[in-house]
Amino acid sequence: MRECRQCGVQIDTEKQNVLYCPECAKARKKAADAEAWIRRRKKEEDKRRDDPAVKKKKLLMHERVYADLLGLTDAEFAVWKQNNPELYAEWYNIRKRNWSI
Ligand SMILES: [Zn+2]
Repeated sequence: MRECRQCGVQIDTEKQNVLYCPECAKARKKAADAEAWIRRRKKEEDKRRDDPAVKKKKLLMHERVYADLLGLTDAEFAVWKQNNPELYAEWYNIRKRNWSI
């Protein structure tokens, strides 16, 4: 007989490597799996976020929204961007703070 490390219940086992009762072992496995899944997802997201192609696509998407806001077509926005570098930079810096959207 051994004692579960988590809940203290007596475990009927001869094995030396059993530390938790079946219920706690199950719960711990579930929690560990959930954590592993979150870690894996975060890693994938980080990788995606750092991808230059994704960054460019995201920027273009944000530019399109802003062009719509200004009532400009893509071509007109390109001209506006060239003629208003300060305004564009200002927009870009504000936008960058909410980049994950
Ligand atoms: Zn237990």
